[in-house]
Amino acid sequence: MKIPLRPTHLLVNLTQLRRNLEAIRAHVCPAQVLVMLKANAYGHGVEGVAPYIEPYVDYIGVAVLDEGVRLRQIGITKPILVAGGTLPEHVPYYLEYDLTLTVSHPAVLEAAEAAAQAQHKPLKVHLKIDTGMERAGIRWYEADNLLERSLRCRHLDIEGIYTHFANSEARETPGAPKKWGYAYPSEQLERFRSVLAFYDKRSLPRPRLVHAANSGAILNLPESFFDMVRPGILFYGIYPDKDVLRSVQVKPAATWKSQVVYSKLTQAGHPVSYGSLWVSDHPVRTVTIPCGYADGYFRRMTNRPQVIVNGKKYQQVGRICMDQFMVNLESDEAELGDEVILLGQAASGEQILPEDLAEWAGTNAYEVMTNISARVPRIFFKEDE
Ligand SMILES: *Cc1c(COP(=O)(O)O)cnc(C)c1O
Repeated sequence: MKIPLRPTHLLVNLTQLRRNLEAIRAHVCPAQVLVMLKANAYGHGVEGVAPYIEPYVDYIGVAVLDEGVRLRQIGITKPILVAGGTLPEHVPYYLEYDLTLTVSHPAVLEAAEAAAQAQHKPLKVHLKIDTGMERAGIRWYEADNLLERSLRCRHLDIEGIYTHFANSEARETPGAPKKWGYAYPSEQLERFRSVLAFYDKRSLPRPRLVHAANSGAILNLPESFFDMVRPGILFYGIYPDKDVLRSVQVKPAATWKSQVVYSKLTQAGHPVSYGSLWVSDHPVRTVTIPCGYADGYFRRMTNRPQVIVNGKKYQQVGRICMDQFMVNLESDEAELGDEVILLGQAASGEQILPEDLAEWAGTNAYEVMTNISARVPRIFFKEDE
């Protein structure tokens, strides 16, 4: 393992990622698994995660074209679906980098057919149906026309058709009254099925890969598995919500570590950090951690987080700075270089979950992980297997 120059780093356990993937695969079998590696593999570091996990996945998903191109540039050869919206003029790059295009707009379909014809290369397309997200995708009630047109595109390989849930983590009680203006997963699923009936009615085969389920649906909604599932957060070992069914056992793969770089006694009445937002009425030991909001440790958490120092949890105190923050050890001791865990489990068993940071920051675990900035080196390791 390469020693980082700075004490603050993100340790990523690749073996744990593979275990999470295997647990998901066992749960959804025989459905295939597309693993979402967008947003720098949810902050874990795509350049370490992608080459390691590639042999074990069926498909890779990213959000934007550039992420797909980057994966090809580092040598990834498995199919890659770009899930986000694309402008017609960007279609030729999908051919150049052998990426799977999401089509949800007639203009993009036309551009795709034209580009594939001009380059004499097949272009893989997944049609995206909006069944209640109101984000991107042809709406379920107007989809027939796009599907009809797609049948006429001789140069495209219409490999897939998919939708995305707005509330996959929501658990529905059968027979419970429905709220007006809420996108229920079961309703979205029904709408998606009504679109798939387009093929059945015409005795045409459906595209080979029908898919819908993200992490929440993988846990809660087995009817949504179809031919492939698209786990993101669950692959990284994080549950999308505290109320989801824990039907797959996963564990976080990332540990955010640092070290004490300053240790001192702070006198009573001597406030700590910018804005003097914390002051003790008795002398306490405070330590300084070289990590701040520029690393993704949210400034808005100030005075709320707990941090593990030498295996024990303590309170963060004073305004979180750009590059550093302080922790109150009360009467305990700590030396320069002592181990600090911001996220993850210590050998003592003490643990801080992404959900904990999410609560302190008033956000979700997705934002906590994707917010860990490029300044934090990612260190990848495998357990002895
Ligand atoms: C991000 C994303 C996912 C993964 O969502 P999770 O909730 O992290 O599992 C799946 N499908 C699409 C289209 C996405 O954009």
